[in-house]
Amino acid sequence: MPKAGPCQMSTSAASGDDASPLGRWQRRIVVSLMLVLTACGTDAARSSPTLRPSPSASISEEPGFGTVEPAPGSDSEVYGPNPGAIVVAIDPGHGGCLDWGVPDPSERGVELAEKTLTLEIAHRLRDRLEAEGIGVVMIRDGDDALAGDDYPPLDCQGPPWRDVNGDGLSGFGDDALPEATRTRDELQARLDLANLAQADALVSIHINSPSAGGQRIEIAFSETFYTDETSWGVEATARLAELVQAGVVDRLAPLATYERGDRGLTAHNFYLVAPPLIEETDERPNRWAQPTRGGLMPVVLAEVGSITLRAEHDLLSSPQGQDAVAAGVFDGLAAFFGERELAGRIGLADAGPSQPMPVAGDGPMYWPPVAPVGPLKLRLTNTGTAAWASGMELVAGWEETDQPYLAFAPGGLVPLDVEVPALAPGESVVVEVILPSPPAGRGVAWISLGSGGETLADHGSPALQLSSEAS
Ligand SMILES: [Zn+2]
Repeated sequence: MPKAGPCQMSTSAASGDDASPLGRWQRRIVVSLMLVLTACGTDAARSSPTLRPSPSASISEEPGFGTVEPAPGSDSEVYGPNPGAIVVAIDPGHGGCLDWGVPDPSERGVELAEKTLTLEIAHRLRDRLEAEGIGVVMIRDGDDALAGDDYPPLDCQGPPWRDVNGDGLSGFGDDALPEATRTRDELQARLDLANLAQADALVSIHINSPSAGGQRIEIAFSETFYTDETSWGVEATARLAELVQAGVVDRLAPLATYERGDRGLTAHNFYLVAPPLIEETDERPNRWAQPTRGGLMPVVLAEVGSITLRAEHDLLSSPQGQDAVAAGVFDGLAAFFGERELAGRIGLADAGPSQPMPVAGDGPMYWPPVAPVGPLKLRLTNTGTAAWASGMELVAGWEETDQPYLAFAPGGLVPLDVEVPALAPGESVVVEVILPSPPAGRGVAWISLGSGGETLADHGSPALQLSSEAS
């Protein structure tokens, strides 16, 4: 059985003819995020008529508490109790002048390259999710790269390179440091955006180019990659991968007029799905093979189909095929959120609609907001399908760091002096807390909800991170 090389690892510009300029760099805002923090309104008209009385309403007069706000309720197929509290990050694989992903094997042009098809599929997925009230972060919304796309030998004059992952290297690379330099910074920027948006899931969409011995193989199949090396990976990420894979396979099957396979799941630490590499070991000697800051939520990389079989390529280039893939990923996400019991979103209550915006410079692009001076108002929302246990604790800790944000919880998380109501699915509450004192140097605070020695971050609900200083 030939082993298919995942298209994430392919490089377009390395072989010259794979890449060509697309003309001018189109500067775009690459994120679109629906209102998340304001979605838990108190407007009675939006409340579900079947909502039961909140068990926590009686404590709303206590200092430090707001009123428990009922789940708005909806007919959302993805998360009925409070769809606006869910955020999905969609990564259309590849993009920009340099990185076409897999080019069209028939050399018909950029319109049929992997990067174009993944963006089309991603837009269809975005539209489906937004129609169900879900917040969406588009990692890229056009034919762009985030972390640099400047390479005159191939006539690419995109934005200048940045060292996003902090390895001291940036740019396209050279003979000593081949193309992966660019890829590492680009993929780190994509992870940073999803992490600081506190996305509930990150789905990266790719189309495979199966090959063996350097030869393309004309077969068609779907395959989904994930990591099982995070605390939530074995259960949550594997389950998301399983559901996305099944959704795509099922939706493409009725459209395929050719044989296509189901390669199922593979746990493999491709850069985008991998946990951060803490230190090099004999088993894991390559410090460049994993990100500095890994995804803080379930991340899956779906090779939705194959570009090398012409019939499959034609299907994935058609509106029907692209819509089927989007529907399949949507099905997987809806099933995932429909069975995710324990989850929560912690956000700044006064921030209003927010989305991570890139900062200028030549380093990391996305940084956390600055912690306000004095009492901190946080909105806590139950985004799972089970009520929170009573006695959940809001916990926080600081770490002094020059990293934009933390890849792991800092040591010594302490409980904050506030009682957390046992929120039902979709319910939210605003609480007021005082954070521990920040370190002398620049620090980042990590705020999560804990119970029984674990926090929601251990289950793949990203912590709220705040900086002690403006970046
Ligand atoms: Zn790819």
